[in-house]
Amino acid sequence: MKTKAVRPFSGDFRWQDVELLRYKDAGAAPFKDVTRQVLFEDPAIAAQLRYFEVSPGGYSTLERHQHAHAVLILRGRGRVLVGEEVLSVETNDLVSIPGMCWHQFRPAAGEPLGFLCMVNAERDKPQLPGEADLAGLRRDPRIAAFLDGQ
Ligand code: MN
Repeated sequence: MKTKAVRPFSGDFRWQDVELLRYKDAGAAPFKDVTRQVLFEDPAIAAQLRYFEVSPGGYSTLERHQHAHAVLILRGRGRVLVGEEVLSVETNDLVSIPGMCWHQFRPAAGEPLGFLCMVNAERDKPQLPGEADLAGLRRDPRIAAFLDGQ
């Protein structure tokens, strides 16, 4: 994507000439109703700034990886699992996710949740939880309820 000095905001959480990448809910895919827009990338600083949006009732992938995330909530509100905590988030909140920490985003009922996420362009692949990981997470009833969308 060519860098432009100003890329106007559309008013509907789209940015001019930025492709909307819609994830397909295929088979065992551990996410639901998520779109992604890559807003900025520059090999010189090895950074990527993305905007993700989770539709009402959807959720981001439950995953962990070595790289950390800086996430700024830009639209709506919801909850996020960070490690062993389920936290409420509102528009403009900043969420820091350390490396190797399980995380997942879920919008509040009936609204979308949109957030900016900065990552290193060269990052390790996300790991998905195995059965033992899920059982460990579910031992905490608050986390089990979160994972069940309650
Ligand atoms: Mn992640």
